[in-house]
Amino acid sequence: MTKLISRFSFPTRIVFGSGAVRELGNEAKQLGISRPLLVTDRGVVACGLAEQILAESRRAGLEPTLFEDVNPNPVEKNVHDGVEAYRRGKCDGVIGLGGGSPIDVAKAIRLAETHPLPLEQYDDQLDGAAKIRDDVPPMIAIATTSGTGSEVGRSTVIILKSTDRKTVIFSPHLMPNVALADPELTLGLPPKITAGTGLDALTHNVEAYLALGYHPMCDAIALQGTRLAIQNLPLAVKDGKDLEARSNMMMAAMMGAVAFQKGLGAVHSLAHPLSSIANLHHGTTNGILLPHVLEFNRPTSQERLKDLAVAMEVAGSQESAAEAATALIARLRELLPQIGIPSTLGALGVTRHQIPLLARKAMEDACHQSNPRPCTEADMISLYEKAF
Ligand SMILES: [Zn+2]
Repeated sequence: MTKLISRFSFPTRIVFGSGAVRELGNEAKQLGISRPLLVTDRGVVACGLAEQILAESRRAGLEPTLFEDVNPNPVEKNVHDGVEAYRRGKCDGVIGLGGGSPIDVAKAIRLAETHPLPLEQYDDQLDGAAKIRDDVPPMIAIATTSGTGSEVGRSTVIILKSTDRKTVIFSPHLMPNVALADPELTLGLPPKITAGTGLDALTHNVEAYLALGYHPMCDAIALQGTRLAIQNLPLAVKDGKDLEARSNMMMAAMMGAVAFQKGLGAVHSLAHPLSSIANLHHGTTNGILLPHVLEFNRPTSQERLKDLAVAMEVAGSQESAAEAATALIARLRELLPQIGIPSTLGALGVTRHQIPLLARKAMEDACHQSNPRPCTEADMISLYEKAF
């Protein structure tokens, strides 16, 4: 039990299932959106999904404006260009379509549209949330990957010039008003992206479960999300057309993002600089780092590691916590080759001499503050070296 007062809030309205995007017109009308800015990226445009949503919007009588200038790791300029497009298009709402990047940029555009301060003033590390009001334009999120779960999350992560790092801006007012979760949109994802984004979803659930803090509701969601992710990720990678596996991964991604309102951990602090400095895929690096961080967390978290092992069905309740933790870590190591992801950072092109800078940046990242075992810079170096 805790003596502290806790604040729980559960999220976005979710419209889930095959064909959910056909509800776009109805949902837009309920939110008073008639001229949405459709925020997406070039990959989503190239695979035809942006056109599908534009057509769906027009069929419903909306007048959408397309904005596709979103980097894979979004930068400040994407947000400012988006606000300009919003004003030029006389828009009255935002649709975020894509993986985490376009959805995050869409959230930041709605913030910047009504909040004039420079974005770094809203940095969560500087208690920026206190400056964020609820008068932001309405937003619909449509995920095309099953990873970040940004469609149900309340944060946006943008690389800002002044901070030169992935900066988290966090506020309940940034949560999309509705998420249209349609697993059919993920049927065409190539195996590599399915694997990388799925590892992010898995890591969110695992780190949220281990994170410090009192949140039994998030804990329950994280355990079930972990189970769905580990059981369905290999199936979704093996057969991209497996709609049941795709549906379960989309659900696992949303569960991870709901659960991590409790907090994340050292995996995310180690992974963030690998995106901003080495430009690597966030979920992929999470997947590589996860077993090493769990090994590091053993001294503080053996019982919780056992809960995760039991949820994943790699250990039974009769096993000792130590045995169960070993089985859990072994399963996560085995998962990487099974879904075609290399097991080391070295294989992704990271070089040894980058490690000191990466470790310094990892320490500046806030996620490790909720890691169950406190981390020093030396720990970060050693974790990178193990994953190297
Ligand atoms: Zn993540």
